[in-house]
Amino acid sequence: MQYNEFEIISKYFKNKNQKKDLYTIKDIGDDSALISIPKKHILAISTDTLVENIHFLNNISPEDLAYKTVAVNLSDLAAMGAKPKWTTLSITMPTSCCNWLKKFSDSFFSVLNKYNITLIGGNTTRGPLSVTLSVYGILEKDTGLLRSNANIGDLIYVTGHLGDSKAGLLILKKKISIKNKHIKNYLIKKHLRPIPRIYEGIALKHVANAAIDISDGLVADLGHILKASQCGANVNLNHIPISKNLRNHFHSDNFLHWAISGGEDYELCFTVSKKNAEQLNFISKKLSLHLTCIGNITEPQKGFNLFYNNKKILFNKKGFLHF
Ligand code: ADP
Ligand code: MG
Repeated sequence: MQYNEFEIISKYFKNKNQKKDLYTIKDIGDDSALISIPKKHILAISTDTLVENIHFLNNISPEDLAYKTVAVNLSDLAAMGAKPKWTTLSITMPTSCCNWLKKFSDSFFSVLNKYNITLIGGNTTRGPLSVTLSVYGILEKDTGLLRSNANIGDLIYVTGHLGDSKAGLLILKKKISIKNKHIKNYLIKKHLRPIPRIYEGIALKHVANAAIDISDGLVADLGHILKASQCGANVNLNHIPISKNLRNHFHSDNFLHWAISGGEDYELCFTVSKKNAEQLNFISKKLSLHLTCIGNITEPQKGFNLFYNNKKILFNKKGFLHF
């Protein structure tokens, strides 16, 4: 059955029993949503578009697409230390298949509800499949993790493990294979269902200096911090956190490459002054968060250097590495 735009909105996106929040004056149904911002807070706003065959494979399930759209957007708020509150969804679809829309909508609201986020508006059009989400979060005034706040001498940390998502993508594209079903599913899940580091970003806000989420690969994304902060860095590849599943089943040339230039891990990379580093133990315990120090921030003239087995490794800015 085919629905028109207004039927789609009312059937799949409106009145979804989302918890009312105090600050939403008007949500879906008028020409704009109206939101008031809590006192002494500022808004953090971020948008990401996912286009078929560019940001997701064309055989992705509607459930995974909905999840990933939300997760990658929330990851940007997490990198600022913002608390997500509202979202708007622009969806462009070639047809309005009700089966697809129901699955998309159910998965979409289940992840929104998990993080207490309200859908307050959007746009629905016909065309090649693409999904654009904007997310709106709040931050106490004068807080927020910026890319530009790294200082010389800071330690560089990453959350979780890197490289799993790229391995998962390569499995989905049939570029690599792995027999063990459990590990195969683990890697694919890391690609399709990344967990946005929201609580981690909020906890790190008062401890870290600069932060970014790793969407394009560690080298590229840490490179953004260095550029914005006008600093250099030394990173030790022997310290990059690699999951047991990658370490035990793939060659180090491969997993290190995936870890530093693969992207889509949606972990946080952040810098912290040495005097604050001890506080990370507390955060790590409280959130059961794996945190790894991978290097330090240096003077800008020293550049961005990667070391492996105590030797300097060459790389280009896109993150490609010649071992
Ligand atoms: P307008 O033509 O004034 O831009 P629309 O007819 O496009 O308004 O949308 C009507 C209402 O439905 C608006 O409140 C809009 O924000 C909301 N809306 C449209 N598409 C979506 C969607 N995919 N998800 C959530 N809200 C939507
Ligand atoms: Mg209008």
